[in-house]
Amino acid sequence: MKQESKTFTKDFTLQEPLPEEAIARAVEIMRSGKLHRYNVAAGEAGEAALLEQEFAAYMGAKYCLSCASCGQAMFLALKSAGVQAGDKILCNAFTLAPVPGAIHHAGAEIVLVEITEDYTVDLDDLEKKAAAPDVRWFLISHMRGHLTDMDRLMEICRKHNITLIEDCAHTMGASWNGKKSGSFGKVGCFSTQTYKHMNSGEGGLLTTDDPELIAQAIIYSGSYMLFDRHLSRPGVEVFDQIKKQTPNYSCRMDNLRASMLRFQLRNLDKQCERWNSRYVLLEKELNKIPHISCPKRPKAEKFVGSSIQFSISDQSKEAIQLFLSQTLARGVEIKWFGHTEPVGFTSAYVSWKYLGALPTLQKTNSVLANMCDMRIPLTFDHEDCKCIAEIIGEVAAKVF
Ligand SMILES: *Cc1c(COP(=O)(O)O)cnc(C)c1O
Repeated sequence: MKQESKTFTKDFTLQEPLPEEAIARAVEIMRSGKLHRYNVAAGEAGEAALLEQEFAAYMGAKYCLSCASCGQAMFLALKSAGVQAGDKILCNAFTLAPVPGAIHHAGAEIVLVEITEDYTVDLDDLEKKAAAPDVRWFLISHMRGHLTDMDRLMEICRKHNITLIEDCAHTMGASWNGKKSGSFGKVGCFSTQTYKHMNSGEGGLLTTDDPELIAQAIIYSGSYMLFDRHLSRPGVEVFDQIKKQTPNYSCRMDNLRASMLRFQLRNLDKQCERWNSRYVLLEKELNKIPHISCPKRPKAEKFVGSSIQFSISDQSKEAIQLFLSQTLARGVEIKWFGHTEPVGFTSAYVSWKYLGALPTLQKTNSVLANMCDMRIPLTFDHEDCKCIAEIIGEVAAKVF
């Protein structure tokens, strides 16, 4: 058999099993039947409450709330921070559908910000748009784990009195100059959906240092006046002022999912290192291939390489499509943000028609048109990563 026809046979959706300790705890919770987070006696610490306490400690944050999803965490973050219907919210144009979804859910209006060649927020464009007198919020999405210059970003927010909320679905475990992603803004929002850094199927976490904000978020999330059962919270007097003024949006996490996450949290930093060893290998190999380049990552950025992105230079749309179909035929599943139609887990802002007429962002369009995206499941070992890079190299040599 010719070397060239090598195919990759592992499945890109293949997950690692949950750690045995997590499974054992989840089974215990199922045996107890006490799956609802408020199915606890006064003084009894439930799994969701414990997870919140532990995640807040991991983040170095004062408070944490667990939610049904990261999308819900972002919605609660916006509402609890005080976003009103019709408010304008800055958001980078390269993100996933739940982010504009949360803005829409909160009744706010999105103001898209351009991205740069390295897939992060275009800070010059941000500076311009943040200067508008009616813009007070920025929901930044650290999309695919790429962190922008957080020092300059914070400076812009301070200068223009912008409240920052962070979508850290891909930066759980990441940091900028030693400061954790999610601790820069007023609120950090995280996902524990299967494809993120901890896996409970669905789930979200919200962190903040603000006592009023967390109290709002706890009541919005649906606390049935059982907010005293939370371990990660301010004194009950903070709730007393707002409990009758705040609707119940029912987006809690349950004890079963929390029980799966508690052990995974202890392992999180180790898992991040495992992702990064695969990322570094792939990055090195992919950068050797003509017409393919991974973005240079700043020294200040400690990222989590749970996926890898690269840009293709000087190729037509047709050539890129041929490259994608030929790599796929050899078992390598690469996603592309240049599709005119939204397909599985990619979504370009041009598809968010429900948001009304959005401006065309030239720079973002040209970056996305050449940008590829590949998941790095931890079930792939270093040999698998080498095989994937080889196949990409061979197809690229043929097609480009
Ligand atoms: C997955 C994801 C979310 C939302 O996560 P859910 O928990 O599925 O709601 C938000 N932002 C980005 C960038 C994501 O990839």
